Amino acid sequence: MSESVQRALAAFRRALDRRVLTALEVCARCGICAESCHVFASTGQLQDAPTARSEAVRRLYRRQYDPLGRIFPWWVRAGEATEGDLDALSEAAFATCTLCQRCAMNCPLGVDTALIMKAARAMLAAAGKAPEMLVQLADAAVARGENVQVFREIYREIVADLEQQAQEQLGDPALRISLERQGADILYVALSGAHTIVPAAIIFHAAGADWTLSAFEASNYGVFLGDPEKARAIARRIVDEATHLGVRQVVLTECGHAYAALRWEAPGWFGGEFPFRVRSIVELLAEYIREGRLRLDPSANPLPVTYHDSCNLARKGGLLEEPRVVLRAAVQEFREMTPSRAEAYCCGGGGGLVAVPEYEERRLRAGRKKAEQIMAAGAPLVATSCENCFLQIRDLSSHYGLAVEVTGLMELVVRALLGARARAVRVPALQAA
Ligand code: SF4
Ligand code: SF4
Repeated sequence: MSESVQRALAAFRRALDRRVLTALEVCARCGICAESCHVFASTGQLQDAPTARSEAVRRLYRRQYDPLGRIFPWWVRAGEATEGDLDALSEAAFATCTLCQRCAMNCPLGVDTALIMKAARAMLAAAGKAPEMLVQLADAAVARGENVQVFREIYREIVADLEQQAQEQLGDPALRISLERQGADILYVALSGAHTIVPAAIIFHAAGADWTLSAFEASNYGVFLGDPEKARAIARRIVDEATHLGVRQVVLTECGHAYAALRWEAPGWFGGEFPFRVRSIVELLAEYIREGRLRLDPSANPLPVTYHDSCNLARKGGLLEEPRVVLRAAVQEFREMTPSRAEAYCCGGGGGLVAVPEYEERRLRAGRKKAEQIMAAGAPLVATSCENCFLQIRDLSSHYGLAVEVTGLMELVVRALLGARARAVRVPALQAA
């Protein structure tokens, strides 16, 4: 057995907790989940069905842990792991599964294929078979945490420019963007690029929020890699920063996986709840609107808008009504996509796929189901609250000729805040960081 296969099996052993074991043991291979997977629904190919992709992991599991599999591997279709198996697993776990969990919702036995695929990703990362781009992005984020002092000074100058942009858009020189201010109520964690900072600054200012900007970005590529050490190291930067500043809330920008990682997974990595709340900006937008803290003019957004629920925010995160509160207040006509909320199909760009150039053809193919839904909604504008979804839907629009524009909730809110002024000034659209 090669060294990389040994590393993979050691990582597999570490990933085998009670939930993964249950998912591996109880599948009845009934196939009910197949149509609920956007990949299978888009391609119709058997290898894209959830149970087919998890079967490759089950074979390894039976060989290593099932007594019958050890003695009569052929009896339970158990297989010794080879380099070729790992390469094939990479296709199932990294290139085509977005870890969206829609199949788990539709399995009568509650089998969560995404959990199995996460264990597979952990194996592959340990074996050095994870996509190079995800490894580089995760390593860059860890390095930024280790060299933050050098980086902070450069970032201060960038923030001063962004503050000026936000002042000009709002027409209010009193707007301020502070960096890591001690004792603020909110620590806002953006993505790299002005498009997640300037609109947030305008909204916080208009709502009278006591906020400060994090020196780090929200995304966590360690989660996509299935590498618990890197995921923890990336999350630790924000946890330490928030604890040091003594903030009451950490608010994450429009990014699905960042929210899922820090809100739901990270407390488990650090041994319990944090001394601050973790929230998505989507929750705050809805809260400010309900409390009457934002005066919105929906006529600034006259085109019909439909909404794509990010799997991480909606199905996994439970943020189902908040985006709708925002849309009903900020746009003139909101049209639901069908299905939506927790049952929404994945767009095909999650799980880190949108960051890996060599997966482009596969993710566009797997996005056919979402493209059909968008067409059926018949709205020229698609709103979403996740950067990965934004990039994927923009690509789907050009690949399938949908002729739709994609936007974020913050952008719509800023336009509605500015009202007539929104037509005169440039409101930055979400765009690739
Ligand atoms: S995961 Fe669930 S729905 Fe899918 S084949 Fe297995 S038991 Fe059936
Ligand atoms: S987690 Fe999502 S992409 Fe992966 S098998 Fe299930 S439905 Fe398909």
